[in-house]
Amino acid sequence: MTQHGDISGAGWNFDNSYTRLPDMFFSRLEPTPVSSPEIVVVNEAVAAELGLDAESLRTAQGAAVLAGNTVPPGADPLAQAYAGHQFGHFTMLGDGRAILLGEQITPGGERRDIQLKGPGRTPYSRQGDGRAAIGPMLREYIISEAMHGLGIPTTRSLAVTLTGEEVYREEVLQGAVLTRIAASHLRVGTFQYAAGLGNKEHLQALADYTIKRHYPELEESADRYLGLLRQVVSRQASLIAHWQLVGFIHGVMNTDNMTLSGETIDYGPCAFMDAFNPATVFSSIDRQGRYAYGNQPKIGVWNLARFAETLLPLLDEETDAAVKLAEDALGAFSTEFEKHWLSGMRAKLGLFTEEEEDGQLLRDLLDLMHAEKADYTNTFRALTLGQPEQSPLSCAAEGAGWLERWEARRSRQPELETMSQALMRRTNPAVIPRNHRVEEALAAAEEGDYSPLHELVKVLQDPFAYSSEQEAYAGLPDNEGLPYRTYCGT
Ligand code: AMP
Ligand code: MG
Repeated sequence: MTQHGDISGAGWNFDNSYTRLPDMFFSRLEPTPVSSPEIVVVNEAVAAELGLDAESLRTAQGAAVLAGNTVPPGADPLAQAYAGHQFGHFTMLGDGRAILLGEQITPGGERRDIQLKGPGRTPYSRQGDGRAAIGPMLREYIISEAMHGLGIPTTRSLAVTLTGEEVYREEVLQGAVLTRIAASHLRVGTFQYAAGLGNKEHLQALADYTIKRHYPELEESADRYLGLLRQVVSRQASLIAHWQLVGFIHGVMNTDNMTLSGETIDYGPCAFMDAFNPATVFSSIDRQGRYAYGNQPKIGVWNLARFAETLLPLLDEETDAAVKLAEDALGAFSTEFEKHWLSGMRAKLGLFTEEEEDGQLLRDLLDLMHAEKADYTNTFRALTLGQPEQSPLSCAAEGAGWLERWEARRSRQPELETMSQALMRRTNPAVIPRNHRVEEALAAAEEGDYSPLHELVKVLQDPFAYSSEQEAYAGLPDNEGLPYRTYCGT
């Protein structure tokens, strides 16, 4: 039996608004206790934002909560029901290996989901064991922190805790639980579930809940469901533009992995691109390249179209009119995406002003990078540091011409070069979570050495610092040419 109890002074302050949705949306249950909880890492910054005391979380009582052995006071644990298109195929899913403890009301008055990932089986586990292994949970910890450091909306990670139990995959691995923090875990797939299994009242309850939680400014609006669709389209257009700007490849953009809050969620087979190539795919299970880097905006629209379909009954009583409204709302994605992408790219090149030909200048740079297999992050880093000779651009015949055009373009704006360089420093990260560095930290952690993990997370927390420690983390692996593969679902 899971114990209920206080861990004194930790600062839990739960509300459980999700339990007030219709019953179909969740199953109440408690995490399955494990043999020996042991904290691997607690995120102090996240703990502070949540109003939790990091020291208390590190105690045996804290570890017991984070591993699922003790339910903290005020929590009302549940697994969420949802559906989703996985690689284009509709499936009933749900939290097969996650349990929402509740919503922590932070000292700042924000509502944040606290979810355990890997806490044992749930009614939605299907064939799975409901467990997670240390490697993938630390991977989520590292990448979500990196995304936050890059200023990209994301779920966060409060802690990773060892369970003291083994999990069986292709090999025997150490079991672990990740404590994930999210604005909410509402997904496009939650709406697909409501539309597929519920009636109009269920759907409306979910839509009203989503509006209240994420878009309260719409609450009084007569066309609030259309407003909801427009807002979600807008946030996703901005989010995916940010992914593209830093070379992030989500890897598994199924509709159950797309949030309504606009946060990046579910760091499975994700990775950052090295050499610029729109066809880049890392995931071992994405054989068709559906979720390749260059496809992400298109997949974003596809997923949002699935969301829009679920909302049709709420948009207008006449189906044709509802479809027209939905199509118009979806049509805004590409304009908004392009706007964010272009302004982000201008900043990456130190441009404050706008010129008609900027799009061409950018596309020519990307074409050059593609042809030269130039590292995406490090090319912008070299330009930022005023060292274009450090990038493959200087090797290409067209490289010199492009650099001249860029210099000429920068000289046509009133801002001084120093300002332009400062803008580039704020925009182009000195470090990203390089795949080989992530693997190195995970391998050490699996052996019980957490210092590479802590060092990596530290340099990633302020990727725009351009500090001397970061230099070593900017380098590419020695074994270039070996394709990197990420593995999902472990
Ligand atoms: P994901 O690829 O992480 O988005 O997961 C897809 C679905 O599979 C979700 O419903 C997960 O809860 C479920 N799932 C993944 N791993 C497991 C596991 N080990 N046990 C049970 N369910 C799992
Ligand atoms: Mg998922």
